[in-house]
Amino acid sequence: METNNFEILNKSISKVLKVMATIEFFTENDIEELKGLKVGFLRKNSVYRHGVTRFLPTNKWNSSKANPSCVRVVDIHPVLLKNEWEIYREIIIYHEFIHCLGYIRHDKIFYSIEAMWPTISQKKLLGQKFMNYLKLKNSKWKWKCPKCNIYVLRQKKSSGRYICRKCNFKLVDEFLR
Ligand SMILES: [Zn+2]
Ligand SMILES: [Zn+2]
Repeated sequence: METNNFEILNKSISKVLKVMATIEFFTENDIEELKGLKVGFLRKNSVYRHGVTRFLPTNKWNSSKANPSCVRVVDIHPVLLKNEWEIYREIIIYHEFIHCLGYIRHDKIFYSIEAMWPTISQKKLLGQKFMNYLKLKNSKWKWKCPKCNIYVLRQKKSSGRYICRKCNFKLVDEFLR
């Protein structure tokens, strides 16, 4: 991974921490602890996971509740470093930081904390856009119905084994790259 990538990521992390410092829910201590986290990257062909917090084994924790010192690494999707994904990148970093502060499950409390993020209303749409972008990027083949012109993107050829759900016509392969 290029150092440039870490520069971009660290810039975003600083920004997220600055915003978090303005949210009353978080303590100064929370922010300080998050500053020491180790960060890294997911595999670039990951489609469904955009960020992940990997905790140390629980027998290495000094406290009963998870906190940033219990985290081995926070991995972010490398494609999120592109300029156009900046807002979604920050949302993902913030999301993982909530996990790091001990809110491990996606429960009501977690989502109420997540909702404190200024651009959270864009999360769903941006997440879908990002996923579609990754799917397209990772696909080599278009399985197309010659009759209704609808298609799905896949990594492998359909080789005449699939039919259109709508009209039962046999799908044809089109090479994308
Ligand atoms: Zn999560
Ligand atoms: Zn069809």
